[in-house]
Amino acid sequence: MNRVAFIGLGNMGAPMAANLLKAGYALRVFDLNASAVAAAVAAGAVAATSAIDAVADAQIVISMLPASRHVEGLYLGDDGLLAHIPDGVLVIDCSTIAPASAKKVAAAAAQRGLAMIDAPVSGGTAGASAGTLTFIVGGDASVLERARPVLAAMGKNIFHVGDSGAGQVAKLCNNMALGVIMAVTGEALALGSAHGLDPAVLSRMMAVSTGRSWATEVCNPWPGVLENAPSSRGYSGGFGNDLMLKDLGLAAEAAMQVGAPIPLGELARNLYAINSQAGNGGLDFSSVLKVMTKAV
Ligand code: NAD
Repeated sequence: MNRVAFIGLGNMGAPMAANLLKAGYALRVFDLNASAVAAAVAAGAVAATSAIDAVADAQIVISMLPASRHVEGLYLGDDGLLAHIPDGVLVIDCSTIAPASAKKVAAAAAQRGLAMIDAPVSGGTAGASAGTLTFIVGGDASVLERARPVLAAMGKNIFHVGDSGAGQVAKLCNNMALGVIMAVTGEALALGSAHGLDPAVLSRMMAVSTGRSWATEVCNPWPGVLENAPSSRGYSGGFGNDLMLKDLGLAAEAAMQVGAPIPLGELARNLYAINSQAGNGGLDFSSVLKVMTKAV
């Protein structure tokens, strides 16, 4: 099983595909953005002319798209991929989407006799590049075992959390915590800065104290504190504010389905919505700091 159709070569898909190429997989790739396809071809992939063309001789299909509507649009319907994927092919969707969407697409795949798992990821673009992603898998355990080698070529940790859609629920729980932590880390740095503290010194202190997190250590929201963080390159690349806003909306939907209180998740969702309204939706989500201070 080394022929992979990879669809969606954005901030995450491009480095994930690159790691598969390095591991010896043969990739046929497709993205609506021609320059993303060209970059993957330069790394050793073969360009497909469409998603349907990409899957023609695939043994594994991997998709990494923004949201539910893109994934449903790709797979479902008369012109959808499920009508064209050859028998016996393993289908892996790594996008973060609504649990209900993941279940719907997996059920349609099962009707076609195709095995499918939801395998959203955590680890950001740095983890995607380093091949250290965490895969959070929903679906049949035996299907995950078939997928394990290809996932291991892109990640370090693989968790099986339940049936179809469960990977998405777990991913939303993680991202709700991340959204809150990033916002409060920005708030703390803005408060310290307003009192004349150096955000870099404050961050270094927090990173070895009880306020430490991925936001202080890896993706610090204050520009210049960490050279490789999106904040230090104008909040470009990374994990888009509007993707975080999407995930917090999905978490809110999931909470309403079971009556779970998520007061901090809802507050964070509004902060990312305010940042989006201010024109920062395409920037990395750490730009939510802009809601707290005019200093960045
Ligand atoms: P992105 O917007 O950078 O990339 C998405 C890509 O999909 C784009 O290149 C777009 O052209 C392509 N695309 C959209 N519809 C398509 C279609 N029908 N056919 C082919 N290509 C299509 O997004 P990303 O940051 O790579 O994120 C992808 C998914 O991973 C999202 O669900 C996101 O929530 C999740 N995620 C992102 C990060 C991160 O740090 N960026 C981390 C974990 C999970």
